[in-house]
Amino acid sequence: MEKKHKFETEAIRTQMERSQYLEHSSPLYLTSSFVFEDAEDMRASFAEEKDRNIYSRYSNPNSSEFVEKVCKMEGAEDGFAFASGMAAVFSTLGALLRSGDHIVSARSIFGSTHSLFMNFFPNWNISHSYFQVDELHTIDDMVTPQTKILYAETPTNPGVDVLDLEELGKIAKKHNLILIIDNCFASPYLQQPIKFGADLVIHSGTKLMDGQGRVLAGITVGNAELIDKIYRFSRITGPALSPFNAWILSKSLETLAIRVDRHCENALKLAEFLEQHEKVNWVKYPFLKSHPKYEIAKKQMKAGGCVVAFEVKGGLEEGRKFFDSIRLLSLSANLGDTRSIVTHPASTTHSKLSKEERKAVGISDGSVRISVGLENISDIIQDIAQALD
Ligand SMILES: *Cc1c(COP(=O)(O)O)cnc(C)c1O
Repeated sequence: MEKKHKFETEAIRTQMERSQYLEHSSPLYLTSSFVFEDAEDMRASFAEEKDRNIYSRYSNPNSSEFVEKVCKMEGAEDGFAFASGMAAVFSTLGALLRSGDHIVSARSIFGSTHSLFMNFFPNWNISHSYFQVDELHTIDDMVTPQTKILYAETPTNPGVDVLDLEELGKIAKKHNLILIIDNCFASPYLQQPIKFGADLVIHSGTKLMDGQGRVLAGITVGNAELIDKIYRFSRITGPALSPFNAWILSKSLETLAIRVDRHCENALKLAEFLEQHEKVNWVKYPFLKSHPKYEIAKKQMKAGGCVVAFEVKGGLEEGRKFFDSIRLLSLSANLGDTRSIVTHPASTTHSKLSKEERKAVGISDGSVRISVGLENISDIIQDIAQALD
């Protein structure tokens, strides 16, 4: 989709055609279906001779507006909007894979995506191999004639590792694989993987895109031919985003740039504070010079994102104690929200994994993940400081 203006301008000015009422801001089309002039109009519409809305499982003006904005932000040709980030992940892969196919994926991926690969895809004879995030050189040997997709996220959750998108793009091209990047942690404002060779980009709109903890949403954008396959699968299987949530999301994107700027500013300040704190072993944030992939992060991201990971000295007990001492920030599972959120993966989200499995995805007993919100940074630091004390 052609981008005529700068990012912030497109985020605000990309808008569906105005109705007869000449509303300034886009209206909400809370309708399940659309009407036809006559039999011929209906026939031509179903035959796809006309580009128009038929039924909101296929398309709706609100979801189309949301998709158009994200396509411009990501430099993508086309897209489809889903009811959640996981609906986007599942429907994208479900549309492109068939029995016997193989996925090569980074090991550090979102928990539910990992579970899809481990517990459900084998039922349909779809297999996968995992590479470690800093061992991209091992990918070549994992590729088989059945490999169809190269899959990764960057920055990763909850380890905040960074993968070299340019390198992944080259590997995908060499082996003729479809490169899919879950760009949720960066948002389209900070990083556009298509520039580095990604064929498809997936987002959970639930996170930074809405950024206000209100709705679930997902989206896949990228190569038009691939999106057409995903669209055909999705209009039959029904994971479409509701018009109401699409309307919310499209509004949210108007403030994405300004929100993410502040998230990143706050996150960097918190990371710098933690780095010199005596009760902290290490801090990981893509735009800290001490991050092992600092140079790569600088190359592919505009700023470091909203998530900071660090390790409290001690072990599981100290980690829990820190977590229990938090007063202002939320103990919750979301991220990218206006409200800062603290999680202790070892005792919560990743407690079912063995210690070795946790180590493989970069989680130690004292690991803490903070999604830095938009409260005043001095209050955020104050709460963390008193909990560490
Ligand atoms: C949250 C998340 C998802 C899933 O999104 P939902 O909207 O919760 O379904 C996928 N990938 C990443 C990286 C996420 O953080």
